Amino acid sequence: MVVIMKPNFTKEELDRAIHTMEDGGVNVMISRGVETTILGAEGNAAGIDIEKMASLPGVERVMRVTEPYKKVNRKYHPADTEVEIAPGVKVGGKKLAVFAGPCSVESEGQITAIAQSVQAMGAMALRGGAFKPRTSPYAFQGMGYSGLDLLEKARMRTGLPVVTEVMSTDDIDYFAEHVDVIQVGARNMQNFDLLKRLGKLRKPILLKRGLSATIEEWLMSAEYILAGGNENVILCERGVRTFESFTRNTLDLSAVLAVKKQSHLPVLVDPSHASGQAWMVERLSLAAIAAGCDGLIIEVHNDPPHALCDGQQSITPEQFETLMQKAQAVAQCVGRVI
Ligand code: PEP
Ligand code: MN
Repeated sequence: MVVIMKPNFTKEELDRAIHTMEDGGVNVMISRGVETTILGAEGNAAGIDIEKMASLPGVERVMRVTEPYKKVNRKYHPADTEVEIAPGVKVGGKKLAVFAGPCSVESEGQITAIAQSVQAMGAMALRGGAFKPRTSPYAFQGMGYSGLDLLEKARMRTGLPVVTEVMSTDDIDYFAEHVDVIQVGARNMQNFDLLKRLGKLRKPILLKRGLSATIEEWLMSAEYILAGGNENVILCERGVRTFESFTRNTLDLSAVLAVKKQSHLPVLVDPSHASGQAWMVERLSLAAIAAGCDGLIIEVHNDPPHALCDGQQSITPEQFETLMQKAQAVAQCVGRVI
């Protein structure tokens, strides 16, 4: 952090600025120029409140020179993190992780059939929402706890770990016991109470990027979970809201490269929610692998026209099979396997 003093600061104002910085846990280096005096923080400036610092008398401007996220930062943890989602099943290594399944759990027959299909085609985990964040209160809200039971049945039959979204802090303890990966949806990326509670678990968390979140905001949300002690975080780029309305969202593939550079956490890409259109999912998946993601999360439905949620963007098991075959070649080009 760098603090620039106003031209006519008093000695008291300078002392107060220095003490405030020291109280935040850093050493202060003073650089006195002819026109400008600058205070540089040496050490971790995370304990200094930037807004409070900027409002001190005699202070002109405060600038951060290092990232505000520490535990998720690759600078302090150079090696890639691998998150184990079930015994021996890891996200973030050479093998790309593919999570596949319907938007929502709809019935025992539906979830079991889809689980068996995607498993046969090489999926690593089964996705399926039981608690759904819907824009309309009149739309299908998910099966709730009975949906979680059906996911457990599908896991029993296939052995696939299950990934599903939690929306309320009230449900966290139940999820911790019954689910393999707890998903935080885009709409809850900045639900800080939820993040703090998830930080107390050791369960893998799939943290989706918020609808309009910057990369820094997204990483700061991950920082909440790591700061609480849970280092098992998997990030997921799922498109962001832009001026463009042809697609549901705009898939930000440059974010994959940015996040891989800035952080050691694994990053998945969700081409289904990013595009909102089934016909785009295969090509976007291949592009995401080429961009260096650690895997994909894809909506697959055995009867997309009759899906209770997101049928338009769901691919069939047959389309998923083709996608997986093509993905192998691209994965090989970037030194990965699928
Ligand atoms: C989902 O994965 O089911 C979902 C609702 O995604 P998002 O939070 O990215 O919109
Ligand atoms: Mn969906």
